[in-house]
Amino acid sequence: NFVSAVVPPGEIGVKFDDIGALEDVKGALNELVILPMRRPELFSRGNLLRPCKGVLLFGPPGTGKTLLAKALATEAGANFISITGSTLTSKWFGDAEKLTKALFSFASKLAPVIIFVDEVDSLLGARGGAFEHEATRRMRNEFMAAWDGLRSKDSQRILILGATNRPFDLDDAVIRRLPRRIYVDLPDAVNRAKILKIFLALENLEPGFQFETLANATEGYSGSDLKNLCISAAYRPVQELLDEEKKGGRTDGAPILRPLNLDDFIQSK
Ligand code: ATP
Repeated sequence: NFVSAVVPPGEIGVKFDDIGALEDVKGALNELVILPMRRPELFSRGNLLRPCKGVLLFGPPGTGKTLLAKALATEAGANFISITGSTLTSKWFGDAEKLTKALFSFASKLAPVIIFVDEVDSLLGARGGAFEHEATRRMRNEFMAAWDGLRSKDSQRILILGATNRPFDLDDAVIRRLPRRIYVDLPDAVNRAKILKIFLALENLEPGFQFETLANATEGYSGSDLKNLCISAAYRPVQELLDEEKKGGRTDGAPILRPLNLDDFIQSK
């Protein structure tokens, strides 16, 4: 139970198409992870095209790193193991060696597998000097030793995928082991419109709803912020209907929610 989730590929429920924008990121992950996992025979000769053992996703909070990790497992046909750096170091003081051995031997059995380490900075962050907890240091060393010890057969089919909002906190030794680093940026207006279209695909929108106007009005929003905005906006017609019912109007027949309009979003900001 140090692992927060183990999910087989068919049950993850997220694919690349569910993620708006981030086309470059998806393209890079296709080349680095999906192809080598799906077609290992194309990557087994020579030295140039070698599957990589580690990929780092970094960027501001809420930009879809966790979502990308899950979708990647679906697209690669890999099992998905998810661990969180801070849980590992806080809950499992003392048992570092046993724990990492168990994790990696479990992963070998599940290969092809993606081990997603969220908050990788708290598990594998820069050496904390005199104040660093001994257990954290041991956990990190054990983790890196087990990682290095992956047999080459396994290394094609086990990928460590780290995610962090704080890449500058990572230890040099970890950075070297995550040779491919992919920046997951905040969306620009065009990409905000793409993300909004995914969230609002099934909603009842006013005819002629202007996605571009909404995208332009949400400068600086992450995908996660946009989702929260959509949820708040979608609640407004519900609240109106409840208010009307309370006043004694519209008690006849099935309640009908009015379509969402741009103002619902602007008022919810
Ligand atoms: P953190 O760094 O805070 O852990 P994160 O980058 O891992 O954040 P996620 O947890 O993947 O971000 O995103 C939070 C939620 O925001 C997702 O569950 C999803 O609903 C939504 N989201 C973010 N970006 C996108 C996107 N590009 N397309 C669709 N949904 C998105």
